[in-house]
Amino acid sequence: MATETDIPTRTPEQLQALAEQANQELENASAQEIMRWAAETFGRRFAVTSSMEDAVVAHLASTALPGVDVIFLDTGYHFPETLGTRDAVAEVYPVNVITLTPRQTVAEQDAEFGPRLHDRDPDLCCALRKVEPLNRGLAGYDAWATGLRRDESPTRANTPVVAYDAKRRKVKIAPIARWTQEDVDAYVAEHGILLNLLLSDGYASVGCSPESCTRRILAGEDGRSGRWAGIGKTECGIHL
Ligand code: SF4
Repeated sequence: MATETDIPTRTPEQLQALAEQANQELENASAQEIMRWAAETFGRRFAVTSSMEDAVVAHLASTALPGVDVIFLDTGYHFPETLGTRDAVAEVYPVNVITLTPRQTVAEQDAEFGPRLHDRDPDLCCALRKVEPLNRGLAGYDAWATGLRRDESPTRANTPVVAYDAKRRKVKIAPIARWTQEDVDAYVAEHGILLNLLLSDGYASVGCSPESCTRRILAGEDGRSGRWAGIGKTECGIHL
């Protein structure tokens, strides 16, 4: 395992070349192999993000890089169950949970933009409460991993396992991109992974608590259908 001081500082061009090569080499690798590659390649300049829907990616990362930074975006609109999952993850796993907050509290945002911005302009709300804090929080890293999966929705069907995130000039890793929901369930069962309690209450994808942002799914709907349902929005902007 490389140590922090072994990891060279890389230019954006080097990171892009590294990502393109790794994407070819790791397409058929296991999630564990992809995480080991990330840990050995980037050391402490690697972090994972978690919505605290479950602790699958945090657990995978912790086995490859104990003490890994796990970034959680606290929008100020989370369900109590999500904050509880965040606190439990910090207690149970060998990870360093970092909670990032927006520049404005909800009250300050309401004062500037009016109440319930999430109903009127969810793209702006997500930009202020998720995208900007993440961009700020990732400044000290060369690579980040997410829990994106190709089977979650048509918009995620072509998710590469490793890509160059040109907007942030980072390597973006999706170690469970090829997993199905059955693979997730099997991993959860095998390792006793912490889950957000809302997953057993009709929710398939857990985001912010306003009804316009997260609702329970109906029989036959894909897992992302409960997010921004009926308003034509499918992603918060972090993965666009
Ligand atoms: S998911 Fe909803 S409440 Fe959360 S940041 Fe986006 S629009 Fe705002």
